[in-house]
Amino acid sequence: MTPLKNILARRIEATGPISLADYMAECLMHPKHGYYQRERVFGSDGDFITAPEVSQMFGETIGLWLADRWIVMGRPARVNLVELGPGRGTLMADMLRAAAKVPGFKDAAQVHFIEASEQLRALQAEKVPGATWHDDFSSIPEGPTLVVANEFFDALPIHQYEKQGGKWFERSVGLVGDRLGFVLTQPGAQFALAPAHLLSAPDGSLLEVCPGAISSSANVASHLAAHGGAALFIDYGYAISAPGDTFQALKAHAFTDPFAEPGKADLTAHVAFDRIAEASESAGAKATPAAEQGAFLMTIGLGVRAQALAETASSKGQERILSELKRLTAPDEMGTLFKVLAVQSSALPKPPGF
Ligand code: SAH
Repeated sequence: MTPLKNILARRIEATGPISLADYMAECLMHPKHGYYQRERVFGSDGDFITAPEVSQMFGETIGLWLADRWIVMGRPARVNLVELGPGRGTLMADMLRAAAKVPGFKDAAQVHFIEASEQLRALQAEKVPGATWHDDFSSIPEGPTLVVANEFFDALPIHQYEKQGGKWFERSVGLVGDRLGFVLTQPGAQFALAPAHLLSAPDGSLLEVCPGAISSSANVASHLAAHGGAALFIDYGYAISAPGDTFQALKAHAFTDPFAEPGKADLTAHVAFDRIAEASESAGAKATPAAEQGAFLMTIGLGVRAQALAETASSKGQERILSELKRLTAPDEMGTLFKVLAVQSSALPKPPGF
């Protein structure tokens, strides 16, 4: 039994089942036993590989997309460059290297990281010296702002609801014998956030709600609406919300039982991009429809970047570049499951890639 499993089992014994969101929050963010307190999370020796860890081309291309938004904003002398959940800091380092080629951008950009894990903050500081760290978006300084988040929203805790006998129940985490597992309870207050048009789904259906995704995107959007700027959110998920169970646990690149070893596996859920767009628009910004990652990256210049790198590479290097390009864009890899959504202040013209 992991130490965290013991802690959670005692808590459930004392006060009853906890929501799936509480369970995820404890497993991912517990100050001592939480998953993200470990260092070896990402990469081939970790539990999963994210796009910036697949290829430097990902961050370079996205850095130029953001620098282009800075140009259309009128090249403000100072711009906050904010990343939510920066992991190892690879995306920001690649973005800054590429965007430094745009005259004036590097001097204007002030890097801000929103990161909950102390371990990861230390890794980020090595990759990106001079950044400032925050617990959430509320302490980001006023002024023009660019935001990026890759695989941040899928890590935010979700609630699940299940319909049985014509009624919706919350899928909570309780003790089933001496094991942790799902039990149905009365829905808590967050059920009010469930998409109204899905409530008539048939018996057996499952709905998911991610309050953190709604509130973080609303916070970003109201800052952009007030001060001008653009955000790019990249993650796997639905362009349009649908019923279904997407809660999953990953360990060493394989799916695992989410209740077996709390704190030792990554827990995630698909992101509902229509909910993020809706929350952003309610907060006063404009959202694009979600694009597929493969099409988005190719439209904004990933192919051109790959070509440029390949020209000076050995034949082995060329093979590697081609396989990275395929990994990021092919429909059977990250190309269509991953989506991209842009949110901007209303004065900015439509962004490239959508
Ligand atoms: N963007 C990185 C890492 C993705 S993993 C990449 O693409 O490789 C998710 C990241 O979000 C981690 O850095 C994790 O510590 C951070 N994170 C998760 N939940 C968070 C929260 N509620 N507040 C701040 N950071 C969070």
